[in-house]
Amino acid sequence: MKKKSISFAIILILFFFPGCSSDERPHYPVNPKPLVNEAYIKLPLGSVKPSGWLEDQLEIQADGLTGHLDEFWEDLVLSGWRGKGGESWERGPYYLDGLVPLAYILNDNRLKLKVEDWMDFILNSSRQDGWFGPETTTDRWPLAVASKVLMEYYEATGNQKALDVLTGYFKYLYENEPDWPDKEWRGVRAMEHAVVGYWLYRRLKEPWILETIKSIQDNSYSWTEYYYTFPWDSAAVSDGLIPHNWQAEGLTAHVVNNAMAIKYPGLWYQQSNDEHYKNAVFTGIENYIKHHDQTAGRFSGDEHLSGKSPAQGTEMCAVVEYMYSLEKLFGIFGDIALADRLEYLAYNALPGTMTADGWTHQYDQQSNQVLVSVAKRNWSTNRDESNIYGLMPNYPCCLANMHQGWPKFVEHMWMATHDNGLIASVYGPSVVKALVGDGEEVKITEETNYPFEGEISLTIETDRKVKFPLYLRIPGWSEQCTVEYKGMILTAEAGETVKLIEKWNDGDIVKLKLPFNIRSERRYNNSISILRGPLYYSLRIGKEYSEAEMSYKKYDYMGSTDWQITPTTKWNYGLLLNEENPGESIGVETYPVSDYPFADKADMLWSDDAGSHIEWDKNAPVILKVKGIEIPGWGIKDNSADDPPFSPVSIEGEEVELKLVPYGSAKLRITEFPVVIR
Ligand SMILES: [Zn+2]
Repeated sequence: MKKKSISFAIILILFFFPGCSSDERPHYPVNPKPLVNEAYIKLPLGSVKPSGWLEDQLEIQADGLTGHLDEFWEDLVLSGWRGKGGESWERGPYYLDGLVPLAYILNDNRLKLKVEDWMDFILNSSRQDGWFGPETTTDRWPLAVASKVLMEYYEATGNQKALDVLTGYFKYLYENEPDWPDKEWRGVRAMEHAVVGYWLYRRLKEPWILETIKSIQDNSYSWTEYYYTFPWDSAAVSDGLIPHNWQAEGLTAHVVNNAMAIKYPGLWYQQSNDEHYKNAVFTGIENYIKHHDQTAGRFSGDEHLSGKSPAQGTEMCAVVEYMYSLEKLFGIFGDIALADRLEYLAYNALPGTMTADGWTHQYDQQSNQVLVSVAKRNWSTNRDESNIYGLMPNYPCCLANMHQGWPKFVEHMWMATHDNGLIASVYGPSVVKALVGDGEEVKITEETNYPFEGEISLTIETDRKVKFPLYLRIPGWSEQCTVEYKGMILTAEAGETVKLIEKWNDGDIVKLKLPFNIRSERRYNNSISILRGPLYYSLRIGKEYSEAEMSYKKYDYMGSTDWQITPTTKWNYGLLLNEENPGESIGVETYPVSDYPFADKADMLWSDDAGSHIEWDKNAPVILKVKGIEIPGWGIKDNSADDPPFSPVSIEGEEVELKLVPYGSAKLRITEFPVVIR
């Protein structure tokens, strides 16, 4: 095999914007002048399909809550957004924001019929002045979400009515006074409209759309200044200064608002062309890491920002909204670290906060989560039900909003480039069909068990030989990896983007090998977390599932239930590690990825065949084995694992073998471990 010189084949494109030369016209709508060029271009909904385990995961969603929730939950059954006069605020649009992409990605007729039922009402609800939705709704916030739904629906169907409703609504915003009070959701979330606004501008190129977005930016809360001053830091947490309220100040410390707002300066950067806004995004993310960082890619907020202790929680809405923000921000800036974080969230925090059958979710997840029960915990503002895996623990926002997580992630796995190529932005088994080069349609099949393994194979299918650049993101956590194609092998470094510009033949294969060396990171109280590839690994704890008594109505509908989980084995272990090279102290076992990719032994899962819940008996796809010693003084505090004792912990005791499973598979878990020495 030839060894190709790296310098020809690899370019670093952190903060680099591929230009659009005059003879190349992108095949998909891009930012017109005066907007700044985006780094990468979103492909229309339906271009990327999941395969392998990821397809199973989306099918689980279709068979679980997403595919059935509007059949039994009154707030959707009678929703004002389907003309039934019931709940008419955010819940209908939230649900559709996940249902629509799921239906069209899976091309599932049953789900598409559901979508049409809702769309019948929404598409015919436009008023003369451009306002739309249920008659009684006067708040702009649910319309912001419904606008995203119409955007997705239009991409999938090309239904002109959807574009007309959106155009009418933006005309309404243009012609009416700003109404973005800081003390209301619609005020602090006002710039969510800009996602759809720029999408509309790419299609209509009407200057009044940019004027509308400018008016929203100028007349709503300044998240940009917030990210620079960052008032709610670690000191504010320890001094008890986080505003635990739902007034104007409290809304700026609200975890979901933060997860949504991190994209707002980035969106506005496209129009302002001012580095101040771009830097606000990266400064903001740095501040989340410095003051509220948690494992699994999250920052804490239960439901207000709550610091770095692994007993603190993150609301599920914040997980899916942070994912969506990162999907948009990666498209704008192309920074590898944004996609790395997106994978951490998608492959750890998202599955970790749901049962593997897609029938229950938590409000708040914890890194060290040793007891799932209705009990008082040290949350900032949430209630006692918040870490239950159930239908609507604490409050029903996550029940309505959780559905967008997986489908939107799949939508953004591949993106187009300005030089008419494609980039693999985040990895996983998938198939992309897209226009490249001079307008040829190619299909690329990505075969892999990523994130459980690091070998990825891309097979190109094309009717005739076609020249186009294929870009591969090399994650920042990776060590030197190899790319093999057309008889050549090249090596690439972490955090780079590899560009392969070739004439591709039908059947050409590109093989990417990302080394999955085990690594560790320092966490709270000098504790340690273990990672392999994009996955965090958590202690497997024996589990006993039982039904929880909740404050809300129970529905006896298929798999809908509320689980409390109590530990049946000890969890208070410290790890014996060679910290210089943690891989030396840790063994790896792999198992086939099952039909429930994020299930592990002793989980209770809904079975259609049995018509009841069954106890799962298969192993998670990867198990790590490591030695540890029990730390008898480390116990429960406020119904959570107490903060890990400061490491290293000097201790005598019996050495035992511990098993770690992926964070997403561990419904009880320790993820931030003390390190023990003798
Ligand atoms: Zn929520």
